[in-house]
Amino acid sequence: MARRKKIYEGKAKILYEGPEPGTFVQYFKDDATAFNAQKKATIDGKGVLNNRLSEFFMKGLTQVGIPNHFIKRINMREQLIRSVEIIPLEVIVRNFAAGSISTRLGLAEGTPLPRPIVEFCYKDDKLGDPLVSEEHIIAFGWAAQQDLDDMVALALRVNDFLSGCFLAVGIKLVDFKIEIGRIWENDFPRLVVADEISPDSCRLWDIESGQKLDKDVFRRDLGDLADAYTEVARRLGVLPSNVTHAAKPTLIN
Ligand code: UDP
Repeated sequence: MARRKKIYEGKAKILYEGPEPGTFVQYFKDDATAFNAQKKATIDGKGVLNNRLSEFFMKGLTQVGIPNHFIKRINMREQLIRSVEIIPLEVIVRNFAAGSISTRLGLAEGTPLPRPIVEFCYKDDKLGDPLVSEEHIIAFGWAAQQDLDDMVALALRVNDFLSGCFLAVGIKLVDFKIEIGRIWENDFPRLVVADEISPDSCRLWDIESGQKLDKDVFRRDLGDLADAYTEVARRLGVLPSNVTHAAKPTLIN
């Protein structure tokens, strides 16, 4: 699909105009960035793995009745999605302390939280996606109170679904980030899970060993990121069990 109109290019994905109105094609790049793009690399195969993993999770969400933007996978790196109005917030759900909440509140990484905690960050790279409160969100009009309530409910449903998926394959879902978009259906707005769900936006630890299987492998120089993502995909049955990164991922159709 050459010469398609590019709508937007982000750090890990590109959005192109889709074949029909109301659709986009989402292309997964091999680029990895961390610390607000101060650390960058190209990781062979990451885009292919994330395309497949995001497809897996979004289809699962659809199967349990959680609305999302996914329509179908087109090829190794691209999927067809519904175009949505992205709400400019990163919605983070945490089950265990790690990353920024550990730093902010002085909690040892891995500390179980008393209940899942939902946080919002305002999406603005120049500002480093700052943590914001519901007061800020309402006052600045980024979302209405009803949207916020719906976003929290949606995020917690996604948390329950993903926690179960990962637990079944011996992985602890420490935290994750989703983005949420608005779709208009017959003049009524509806919130749906958008963007991607992949090890780029989750913290995933092996339940037994605590080994990290997510983007912290890249952020903290802990090994080969594609190997970690391949292991996640293999456990979830997205890749055949005999595939190793050295042999290059072979994807099941
Ligand atoms: N996260 C993300 N994109 C961001 C910021 C965070 O996908 O721009 C994910 C991150 O991978 C982790 C969760 O959200 O799974 C919580 O991240 P945290 O606030 O701890 O920030 P970090 O330590 O990653 O800077």
